[in-house]
Amino acid sequence: MIEGNPYNEATMKGTVDIPRYGLDLLVVLERAGFEAWVVGGFVRDALLGRSSHDVDIATNAPWTEVQRVSVAAGFSTHETGTAHGTLTVIVPDADDPQTKYGIEVTTFRTDGAYDDARHPTQVEFVRTIEEDLARRDFTMNALAYHPQRGLLDPFDGLSDIEGGLIRMVGDPHERMAEDALRILRACRFASQLGFRIDDATFQAMLERKHLLAQVSVERVTSELDGLLLGAHVHDALMKCADVLSFVLPELLAMKECPQVTPYHIYDVLEHTAWAVQHTPPERLTRWAALFHDMGKPAAAFFSSDGVEHFYGHAAVSMVIARGIMDRLLMSNRFKDRALTLVKRHDEVIEPDARSVKRALRRLGGDVDLFRKLCAIKRADALSQAPQCAPRAALADELEQVLEEVLATEEAFTVRDLVIDGEDVMAAGVPEGPAVGDALARALDAVIDGRKKNERDELLGFIALADAQSDTVRSDI
Ligand code: ATP
Ligand code: MG
Repeated sequence: MIEGNPYNEATMKGTVDIPRYGLDLLVVLERAGFEAWVVGGFVRDALLGRSSHDVDIATNAPWTEVQRVSVAAGFSTHETGTAHGTLTVIVPDADDPQTKYGIEVTTFRTDGAYDDARHPTQVEFVRTIEEDLARRDFTMNALAYHPQRGLLDPFDGLSDIEGGLIRMVGDPHERMAEDALRILRACRFASQLGFRIDDATFQAMLERKHLLAQVSVERVTSELDGLLLGAHVHDALMKCADVLSFVLPELLAMKECPQVTPYHIYDVLEHTAWAVQHTPPERLTRWAALFHDMGKPAAAFFSSDGVEHFYGHAAVSMVIARGIMDRLLMSNRFKDRALTLVKRHDEVIEPDARSVKRALRRLGGDVDLFRKLCAIKRADALSQAPQCAPRAALADELEQVLEEVLATEEAFTVRDLVIDGEDVMAAGVPEGPAVGDALARALDAVIDGRKKNERDELLGFIALADAQSDTVRSDI
């Protein structure tokens, strides 16, 4: 802790509670004669009562000075973004020096286009905090706080926070043109905070969405991730679909696809938005929920009784999802698992041990993926017509059966069998694909309860099956 830090408990009692490590760094900078403020997302979140460890400081000190005074105070630093005036200072927790926090300290600046969420391609350093705040994206993010000087709020960010409004600082058209990422940030904040987007800001988002073509894929993906993980994702997807369509054109066919069936009350887009909302905020599950019905517009047809059907839509959803994930540079593992969830979202699994073990086997023994599949099934049921909601209970039952299967250590993959390939070959099965086939048959027998997962029983079963297939061979 910095000795004699004047920002004691009493002065800290403002609207914004700055953690001790943040105050310590403010003191170090200001004792050296510089001006420093806590800025941006931390202040916004604190005013919203959302806790965060992500303290950002803006100062009139050049980064070299920030480094000099920080090191003199015993803090280490990382030269992460010094080209843009940002230095990361590592400050220990006063009560627990083993715990350290990275604080990004940025020299007052203005900027043009950003090449990632924080680092503009060209920056110009400025003298005042007010000029620095003017370059920030939304009024709720253009706030600075100081434990003695209080809240600096030149754009009425506090009243927008209170009113739940996302409003661009300055002219929204110009600001979006300067950095189109802000378009997606608005959608993402709407999802995270549940705020409404101001009309003029939203109109500019629509009119400028073509500029998203200039934003790097990585940043698009990261904002979409944030949006999907938001607590208000349904509302954000519905509100922003026509903006997001520039990076996710697949949303439009969903929006235009009604579901004229007794099971649905929403079109495909709104059903999907609810399904995403009803899943836990976890990246893979939420993306898979977004994808699960994307094939419906292509699979749709009306039977002569006027009812709509979507037979086989999951296969088309997979084609579309693969295209999106390739485009958004998702990892191969992520793609494989998401496609499995999409493929299997509609598959019937009975809530009994045998069916659950078979389903686990189809998932390659991936228990976590089974749980995610249950989450999607539950969310899917909750997002259909009200009379379908009770089907969500089936997902609960499946998870309960899963726990029982896991607790009793029942086999559901070949790896769980007490015998392996060596044993099978020792029992006379020739090396090659026949070994895998024999193990697969043994697993079938165990899952079905025809055989116990015991060595002698399984080896006897394999030897018998092998002898029978020999007989078949010699008969040919
Ligand atoms: P979170 O960290 O929760 O995503 P945040 O508001 O802290 O939200 P950061 O990306 O951490 O967002 O950026 C910190 C601050 O920098 C923002 O609050 C905002 O003032 C400013 N900022 C970030 N990205 C931009 C941008 N593209 N255009 C203008 N200002 C930005
Ligand atoms: Mg932040």
